[in-house]
Amino acid sequence: MNAPVLVINCGSSSIKYALIDSDPQAPRLAGLAERLGSRDARLKGKNSAGESFTQPLPNADHAEALIAILKRLENRVPAAIGHRIVHGGEHFTQAALIDDSVIATIESIAALAPLHNPAHLAGIAATQKVFPGLPQVAVFDTAFHQTLPPRAYRYALPEALYTEHRIRRYGFHGTSHAYVSKRAGELSQRGNGGWLTAHLGNGCSTSAIWNNQSQDTSMGLTPLEGLVMGTRSGDVDPGLHAHLHRQLGWSLDEIDDVLNKQSGLLGLSGLTNDMREVEEQALSGHKGSKLALDVFCYRIAKSLAALSCALPTLDGVIFTGGIGENSPIVRREVIALLPHFGFNMDEAANEATIRGKEGKLDHTGHSGPEVWVIPTDEEGRIAMETRHCVETH
Ligand code: AMP
Repeated sequence: MNAPVLVINCGSSSIKYALIDSDPQAPRLAGLAERLGSRDARLKGKNSAGESFTQPLPNADHAEALIAILKRLENRVPAAIGHRIVHGGEHFTQAALIDDSVIATIESIAALAPLHNPAHLAGIAATQKVFPGLPQVAVFDTAFHQTLPPRAYRYALPEALYTEHRIRRYGFHGTSHAYVSKRAGELSQRGNGGWLTAHLGNGCSTSAIWNNQSQDTSMGLTPLEGLVMGTRSGDVDPGLHAHLHRQLGWSLDEIDDVLNKQSGLLGLSGLTNDMREVEEQALSGHKGSKLALDVFCYRIAKSLAALSCALPTLDGVIFTGGIGENSPIVRREVIALLPHFGFNMDEAANEATIRGKEGKLDHTGHSGPEVWVIPTDEEGRIAMETRHCVETH
Protein backbone atom coordinates (compact mmCIF):
# COMPACT_ATOMS: atom_id res chain seq x y z
CA MET A 1 0.00 0.00 0.00
CA ASN A 2 1.87 3.08 -1.25
CA ALA A 3 -0.85 5.74 -1.08
CA PRO A 4 -0.84 7.95 2.03
CA VAL A 5 -2.73 7.24 5.26
CA LEU A 6 -4.87 9.94 6.87
CA VAL A 7 -4.36 9.86 10.63
CA ILE A 8 -7.19 11.34 12.63
CA ASN A 9 -7.45 12.16 16.33
CA CYS A 10 -11.02 13.24 17.15
CA GLY A 11 -11.87 15.06 20.37
CA SER A 12 -15.32 16.28 21.36
CA SER A 13 -14.75 19.64 19.63
CA SER A 14 -11.60 19.06 17.61
CA ILE A 15 -10.03 16.95 14.87
CA LYS A 16 -6.26 16.70 14.56
CA TYR A 17 -5.16 15.28 11.21
CA ALA A 18 -1.99 14.30 9.34
CA LEU A 19 -1.64 12.84 5.86
CA ILE A 20 1.33 10.48 5.99
CA ASP A 21 3.08 8.97 3.01
CA SER A 22 4.62 5.48 3.01
CA ASP A 23 8.00 7.21 2.54
CA PRO A 24 8.78 8.53 6.05
CA GLN A 25 10.85 11.40 4.58
CA ALA A 26 7.94 12.76 2.51
CA PRO A 27 6.43 16.04 3.82
CA ARG A 28 3.23 15.69 5.82
CA LEU A 29 0.08 17.73 5.43
CA ALA A 30 -1.16 18.32 8.96
CA GLY A 31 -3.54 20.51 10.87
CA LEU A 32 -6.20 20.95 13.49
CA ALA A 33 -9.91 21.73 13.28
CA GLU A 34 -10.89 23.19 16.62
CA ARG A 35 -13.80 24.74 18.55
CA LEU A 36 -16.17 22.63 16.44
CA GLY A 37 -19.86 23.30 17.08
CA SER A 38 -19.14 26.95 17.98
CA ARG A 39 -19.18 30.20 16.01
CA ASP A 40 -15.38 30.32 16.30
CA ALA A 41 -14.79 26.90 14.72
CA ARG A 42 -11.77 26.98 12.41
CA LEU A 43 -9.25 24.85 10.57
CA LYS A 44 -5.55 25.58 10.99
CA GLY A 45 -2.74 23.78 9.24
CA LYS A 46 0.17 23.79 6.84
CA ASN A 47 0.27 23.03 3.12
CA SER A 48 3.01 21.06 1.37
CA ALA A 49 5.04 24.23 0.83
CA GLY A 50 5.10 24.63 4.61
CA GLU A 51 2.82 27.70 4.51
CA SER A 52 0.34 28.10 7.38
CA PHE A 53 -3.36 28.68 6.82
CA THR A 54 -6.36 29.42 9.03
CA GLN A 55 -9.85 28.90 7.62
CA PRO A 56 -12.94 29.95 9.61
CA LEU A 57 -15.62 27.21 9.72
CA PRO A 58 -18.42 28.88 11.71
CA ASN A 59 -20.65 26.31 13.49
CA ALA A 60 -19.07 23.40 11.60
CA ASP A 61 -19.59 19.93 13.02
CA HIS A 62 -17.15 17.01 12.67
CA ALA A 63 -18.41 15.98 9.21
CA GLU A 64 -18.19 19.53 7.85
CA ALA A 65 -14.68 19.89 9.28
CA LEU A 66 -13.67 16.62 7.59
CA ILE A 67 -14.93 17.91 4.23
CA ALA A 68 -12.80 21.04 4.74
CA ILE A 69 -9.81 18.84 5.65
CA LEU A 70 -10.37 16.72 2.52
CA LYS A 71 -10.08 19.88 0.40
CA ARG A 72 -6.74 20.65 2.06
CA LEU A 73 -5.18 17.33 1.05
CA GLU A 74 -4.00 18.81 -2.28
CA ASN A 75 -5.64 16.04 -4.32
CA ARG A 76 -3.67 13.31 -2.58
CA VAL A 77 -6.15 10.53 -1.96
CA PRO A 78 -5.62 8.51 1.23
CA ALA A 79 -5.72 4.72 0.96
CA ALA A 80 -6.91 4.30 4.53
CA ILE A 81 -7.76 6.22 7.67
CA GLY A 82 -6.13 5.54 11.03
CA HIS A 83 -8.00 6.69 14.14
CA ARG A 84 -6.27 7.25 17.43
CA ILE A 85 -8.49 5.70 20.12
CA VAL A 86 -7.57 6.31 23.76
CA HIS A 87 -9.08 3.24 25.38
CA GLY A 88 -9.30 -0.27 24.00
CA GLY A 89 -9.84 -1.99 27.35
CA GLU A 90 -8.72 -5.62 27.32
CA HIS A 91 -10.29 -6.26 23.94
CA PHE A 92 -7.63 -4.82 21.69
CA THR A 93 -4.03 -5.95 21.81
CA GLN A 94 -3.32 -4.41 18.41
CA ALA A 95 -4.87 -2.16 15.78
CA ALA A 96 -8.26 -3.28 14.45
CA LEU A 97 -10.01 -2.81 11.11
CA ILE A 98 -13.18 -0.89 12.01
CA ASP A 99 -16.47 -2.72 11.48
CA ASP A 100 -19.75 -2.81 13.41
CA SER A 101 -18.41 -5.18 16.04
CA VAL A 102 -15.29 -3.03 16.68
CA ILE A 103 -17.54 0.03 17.04
CA ALA A 104 -19.80 -1.84 19.47
CA THR A 105 -16.77 -2.90 21.54
CA ILE A 106 -15.39 0.66 21.70
CA GLU A 107 -18.88 1.77 22.78
CA SER A 108 -19.02 -0.91 25.47
CA ILE A 109 -15.86 0.42 27.15
CA ALA A 110 -16.83 4.11 26.93
CA ALA A 111 -17.24 4.20 30.72
CA LEU A 112 -13.47 3.69 31.04
CA ALA A 113 -12.74 6.80 28.94
CA PRO A 114 -15.89 8.94 29.08
CA LEU A 115 -14.17 12.05 27.73
CA HIS A 116 -12.44 10.34 24.84
CA ASN A 117 -14.10 7.21 23.45
CA PRO A 118 -17.52 8.80 22.66
CA ALA A 119 -15.71 11.63 20.83
CA HIS A 120 -13.66 9.10 18.85
CA LEU A 121 -16.86 7.26 17.90
CA ALA A 122 -18.45 10.50 16.69
CA GLY A 123 -15.32 11.01 14.62
CA ILE A 124 -15.49 7.51 13.14
CA ALA A 125 -19.16 8.03 12.20
CA ALA A 126 -18.38 11.36 10.51
CA THR A 127 -15.37 9.89 8.72
CA GLN A 128 -17.41 6.96 7.40
CA LYS A 129 -19.91 9.48 6.02
CA VAL A 130 -17.28 11.65 4.32
CA PHE A 131 -14.95 8.84 3.14
CA PRO A 132 -17.31 5.92 2.37
CA GLY A 133 -15.51 2.84 1.14
CA LEU A 134 -12.10 3.71 2.62
CA PRO A 135 -10.76 1.17 5.12
CA GLN A 136 -10.68 2.65 8.63
CA VAL A 137 -8.48 1.36 11.40
CA ALA A 138 -8.62 1.94 15.16
CA VAL A 139 -5.21 2.28 16.85
CA PHE A 140 -5.43 2.16 20.64
CA ASP A 141 -3.30 3.99 23.22
CA THR A 142 -3.76 1.05 25.57
CA ALA A 143 -2.95 -1.82 23.16
CA PHE A 144 0.85 -1.72 23.57
CA HIS A 145 0.48 -2.24 27.33
CA GLN A 146 -1.67 -5.36 26.99
CA THR A 147 1.54 -7.39 27.44
CA LEU A 148 1.77 -6.30 31.09
CA PRO A 149 1.82 -9.32 33.39
CA PRO A 150 -0.88 -9.55 36.11
CA ARG A 151 1.55 -8.48 38.85
CA ALA A 152 1.87 -5.14 37.03
CA TYR A 153 -1.72 -4.62 35.92
CA ARG A 154 -3.72 -5.80 38.93
CA TYR A 155 -4.63 -3.48 41.80
CA ALA A 156 -4.73 -5.09 45.25
CA LEU A 157 -8.51 -4.86 45.32
CA PRO A 158 -11.24 -7.50 45.73
CA GLU A 159 -11.14 -9.92 42.78
CA ALA A 160 -14.68 -9.14 41.61
CA LEU A 161 -13.73 -5.55 40.83
CA TYR A 162 -11.43 -6.98 38.19
CA THR A 163 -13.41 -9.98 36.98
CA GLU A 164 -16.80 -8.24 36.83
CA HIS A 165 -15.87 -4.59 36.27
CA ARG A 166 -12.47 -4.82 34.53
CA ILE A 167 -10.86 -2.52 37.09
CA ARG A 168 -7.14 -2.86 36.45
CA ARG A 169 -4.18 -0.85 35.20
CA TYR A 170 -4.28 -0.30 31.42
CA GLY A 171 -1.61 2.33 30.71
CA PHE A 172 -1.70 4.95 27.93
CA HIS A 173 0.61 6.74 25.44
CA GLY A 174 1.21 3.24 24.03
CA THR A 175 1.97 4.41 20.47
CA SER A 176 4.62 6.79 21.80
CA HIS A 177 6.32 4.27 24.11
CA ALA A 178 6.21 1.68 21.31
CA TYR A 179 7.68 4.06 18.73
CA VAL A 180 10.58 5.46 20.79
CA SER A 181 11.65 2.09 22.24
CA LYS A 182 11.63 0.48 18.78
CA ARG A 183 13.59 3.42 17.39
CA ALA A 184 16.17 3.16 20.20
CA GLY A 185 16.50 -0.54 19.38
CA GLU A 186 17.31 0.44 15.77
CA LEU A 187 19.74 3.25 16.64
CA SER A 188 21.58 1.77 19.60
CA GLN A 189 24.20 -0.96 19.39
CA ARG A 190 22.29 -2.63 22.20
CA GLY A 191 19.22 -3.42 20.11
CA ASN A 192 15.88 -4.34 21.66
CA GLY A 193 16.87 -5.06 25.23
CA GLY A 194 15.51 -3.36 28.32
CA TRP A 195 14.48 0.27 27.91
CA LEU A 196 12.86 2.74 30.27
CA THR A 197 10.84 5.37 28.41
CA ALA A 198 9.71 8.73 29.77
CA HIS A 199 7.00 10.43 27.68
CA LEU A 200 6.92 13.93 29.16
CA GLY A 201 4.41 16.28 27.56
CA ASN A 202 1.23 17.82 28.91
CA GLY A 203 0.39 14.25 29.89
CA CYS A 204 3.34 12.26 31.26
CA SER A 205 4.01 8.56 31.66
CA THR A 206 6.91 6.14 32.00
CA SER A 207 7.18 2.60 30.77
CA ALA A 208 9.51 -0.41 31.13
CA ILE A 209 9.97 -2.27 27.82
CA TRP A 210 11.69 -5.59 27.28
CA ASN A 211 12.18 -6.88 23.75
CA ASN A 212 9.61 -4.43 22.36
CA GLN A 213 7.00 -5.53 24.90
CA SER A 214 5.66 -3.29 27.63
CA GLN A 215 6.28 -4.83 31.07
CA ASP A 216 4.94 -2.03 33.26
CA THR A 217 3.88 1.60 32.97
CA SER A 218 3.01 4.48 35.26
CA MET A 219 -0.55 5.23 34.13
CA GLY A 220 -3.34 2.99 35.34
CA LEU A 221 -7.10 2.59 35.00
CA THR A 222 -7.13 6.21 33.83
CA PRO A 223 -4.42 8.61 32.62
CA LEU A 224 -4.40 10.25 36.07
CA GLU A 225 -2.16 7.70 37.79
CA GLY A 226 1.61 8.08 38.00
CA LEU A 227 3.74 11.13 37.26
CA VAL A 228 3.06 14.80 37.92
CA MET A 229 1.65 16.32 34.70
CA GLY A 230 0.65 19.77 33.38
CA THR A 231 -2.61 19.93 35.33
CA ARG A 232 -2.92 16.34 36.65
CA SER A 233 -1.75 15.36 40.11
CA GLY A 234 -0.52 11.86 39.27
CA ASP A 235 -0.29 9.55 42.29
CA VAL A 236 -1.95 10.68 45.49
CA ASP A 237 -2.95 8.72 48.57
CA PRO A 238 -6.09 6.75 47.61
CA GLY A 239 -7.49 7.96 50.95
CA LEU A 240 -7.40 11.56 49.69
CA HIS A 241 -10.80 11.38 48.00
CA ALA A 242 -12.61 10.29 51.18
CA HIS A 243 -10.70 12.88 53.20
CA LEU A 244 -11.61 15.77 50.88
CA HIS A 245 -15.21 14.64 50.81
CA ARG A 246 -15.55 14.22 54.56
CA GLN A 247 -13.50 17.20 55.69
CA LEU A 248 -14.25 19.78 52.97
CA GLY A 249 -17.58 18.44 51.70
CA TRP A 250 -16.30 18.24 48.11
CA SER A 251 -18.36 16.20 45.66
CA LEU A 252 -16.75 13.49 43.51
CA ASP A 253 -16.99 15.77 40.48
CA GLU A 254 -15.18 18.56 42.32
CA ILE A 255 -12.43 16.19 43.44
CA ASP A 256 -12.08 14.82 39.91
CA ASP A 257 -11.86 18.34 38.52
CA VAL A 258 -9.18 19.42 41.01
CA LEU A 259 -7.04 16.32 40.45
CA ASN A 260 -7.32 16.44 36.64
CA LYS A 261 -7.44 20.14 35.85
CA GLN A 262 -6.06 22.19 38.73
CA SER A 263 -3.14 20.12 40.01
CA GLY A 264 0.26 19.07 38.62
CA LEU A 265 2.64 21.85 37.53
CA LEU A 266 -0.25 24.31 37.62
CA GLY A 267 -1.27 23.41 41.17
CA LEU A 268 2.26 23.39 42.59
CA SER A 269 3.50 26.54 40.82
CA GLY A 270 0.25 28.43 41.28
CA LEU A 271 1.04 29.96 37.88
CA THR A 272 1.04 27.71 34.85
CA ASN A 273 0.90 24.19 33.43
CA ASP A 274 3.51 25.10 30.79
CA MET A 275 6.99 23.75 31.58
CA ARG A 276 8.75 26.53 29.66
CA GLU A 277 7.20 29.10 32.00
CA VAL A 278 7.78 26.94 35.08
CA GLU A 279 11.49 26.75 34.20
CA GLU A 280 11.77 30.49 33.54
CA GLN A 281 10.04 31.36 36.80
CA ALA A 282 12.06 28.80 38.79
CA LEU A 283 15.30 30.26 37.42
CA SER A 284 14.21 33.74 38.44
CA GLY A 285 13.51 32.56 41.99
CA HIS A 286 9.75 31.89 42.06
CA LYS A 287 9.33 29.42 44.93
CA GLY A 288 6.20 27.63 43.67
CA SER A 289 7.78 27.05 40.25
CA LYS A 290 11.01 25.78 41.81
CA LEU A 291 8.99 23.34 43.91
CA ALA A 292 6.93 22.29 40.86
CA LEU A 293 10.14 21.52 38.94
CA ASP A 294 11.64 19.62 41.90
CA VAL A 295 8.55 17.48 42.48
CA PHE A 296 8.13 16.86 38.74
CA CYS A 297 11.71 15.60 38.29
CA TYR A 298 11.83 13.63 41.54
CA ARG A 299 8.65 11.78 40.66
CA ILE A 300 9.98 10.87 37.19
CA ALA A 301 13.22 9.51 38.71
CA LYS A 302 11.28 7.61 41.37
CA SER A 303 9.01 6.10 38.73
CA LEU A 304 11.93 5.07 36.49
CA ALA A 305 13.71 3.47 39.45
CA ALA A 306 10.54 1.57 40.40
CA LEU A 307 9.91 0.42 36.81
CA SER A 308 13.48 -0.89 36.51
CA CYS A 309 12.27 -3.83 38.66
CA ALA A 310 10.30 -5.00 35.62
CA LEU A 311 13.45 -5.43 33.47
CA PRO A 312 16.04 -8.23 33.63
CA THR A 313 18.72 -5.80 32.39
CA LEU A 314 18.73 -2.08 31.69
CA ASP A 315 20.06 -0.82 28.36
CA GLY A 316 19.00 2.76 28.71
CA VAL A 317 16.45 5.48 29.29
CA ILE A 318 14.67 7.40 26.55
CA PHE A 319 13.23 10.90 26.94
CA THR A 320 10.43 12.04 24.63
CA GLY A 321 7.38 14.37 24.47
CA GLY A 322 7.48 18.20 24.47
CA ILE A 323 9.39 18.35 27.77
CA GLY A 324 11.51 15.22 27.28
CA GLU A 325 12.63 16.44 23.84
CA ASN A 326 13.26 20.06 24.76
CA SER A 327 14.23 20.42 28.40
CA PRO A 328 17.91 19.84 29.24
CA ILE A 329 17.06 20.99 32.80
CA VAL A 330 14.52 18.19 33.39
CA ARG A 331 16.79 15.54 31.83
CA ARG A 332 19.76 16.71 33.92
CA GLU A 333 17.75 16.70 37.18
CA VAL A 334 16.23 13.27 36.51
CA ILE A 335 19.56 11.63 35.62
CA ALA A 336 21.23 13.27 38.66
CA LEU A 337 18.65 11.57 40.89
CA LEU A 338 19.61 8.11 39.57
CA PRO A 339 23.38 7.91 40.34
CA HIS A 340 23.26 4.17 41.15
CA PHE A 341 22.15 3.33 37.57
CA GLY A 342 25.59 4.20 36.15
CA PHE A 343 24.44 6.70 33.51
CA ASN A 344 27.17 8.98 32.17
CA MET A 345 25.44 11.86 30.43
CA ASP A 346 27.49 14.45 28.55
CA GLU A 347 26.12 17.85 29.55
CA ALA A 348 27.12 19.45 26.23
CA ALA A 349 25.14 16.80 24.33
CA ASN A 350 22.23 17.28 26.73
CA GLU A 351 22.18 21.05 26.10
CA ALA A 352 22.47 20.60 22.33
CA THR A 353 19.72 17.97 21.92
CA ILE A 354 16.54 20.03 21.60
CA ARG A 355 13.92 20.99 18.98
CA GLY A 356 13.32 17.66 17.37
CA LYS A 357 16.90 16.36 17.46
CA GLU A 358 17.40 12.66 17.98
CA GLY A 359 20.49 11.41 19.76
CA LYS A 360 22.42 9.64 22.47
CA LEU A 361 23.59 11.94 25.25
CA ASP A 362 26.43 9.82 26.64
CA HIS A 363 30.15 10.60 26.88
CA THR A 364 31.97 8.63 24.19
CA GLY A 365 33.28 5.26 25.32
CA HIS A 366 30.66 4.89 28.08
CA SER A 367 29.59 1.28 28.46
CA GLY A 368 26.79 1.58 31.06
CA PRO A 369 23.10 2.19 30.38
CA GLU A 370 22.53 4.86 27.72
CA VAL A 371 20.53 8.09 27.76
CA TRP A 372 18.62 8.89 24.58
CA VAL A 373 16.36 11.65 23.32
CA ILE A 374 14.01 10.38 20.64
CA PRO A 375 11.32 12.74 19.34
CA THR A 376 8.08 10.82 19.43
CA ASP A 377 6.04 10.21 16.28
CA GLU A 378 2.64 8.97 17.39
CA GLU A 379 1.07 9.88 14.06
CA GLY A 380 3.75 8.06 12.08
CA ARG A 381 3.29 4.99 14.26
CA ILE A 382 -0.50 5.12 13.83
CA ALA A 383 -0.02 5.35 10.03
CA MET A 384 2.38 2.39 10.14
CA GLU A 385 -0.01 0.27 12.21
CA THR A 386 -2.91 1.28 9.94
CA ARG A 387 -1.01 0.19 6.84
CA HIS A 388 -0.03 -3.10 8.47
CA CYS A 389 -3.61 -3.79 9.59
CA VAL A 390 -5.09 -3.09 6.12
CA GLU A 391 -2.41 -5.16 4.36
CA THR A 392 -2.89 -8.18 6.62
CA HIS A 393 -6.70 -8.26 6.23
P1 AMP B 1 3.39 17.99 24.40
O1 AMP B 1 2.12 17.69 25.15
O2 AMP B 1 4.20 16.80 24.08
O3 AMP B 1 3.19 18.91 23.22
O4 AMP B 1 4.31 18.84 25.41
C1 AMP B 1 3.88 20.06 25.97
C2 AMP B 1 4.86 20.46 27.08
O5 AMP B 1 6.19 20.58 26.54
C3 AMP B 1 4.53 21.80 27.73
O6 AMP B 1 4.66 21.72 29.14
C4 AMP B 1 5.62 22.70 27.18
O7 AMP B 1 5.92 23.74 28.06
C5 AMP B 1 6.79 21.73 27.10
N1 AMP B 1 7.86 22.28 26.29
C6 AMP B 1 7.85 22.58 24.96
N2 AMP B 1 9.02 23.17 24.61
C7 AMP B 1 9.78 23.25 25.73
C8 AMP B 1 11.09 23.77 26.03
N3 AMP B 1 11.84 24.33 25.09
N4 AMP B 1 11.53 23.66 27.31
C9 AMP B 1 10.78 23.10 28.26
N5 AMP B 1 9.54 22.61 28.05
C10 AMP B 1 9.05 22.69 26.80
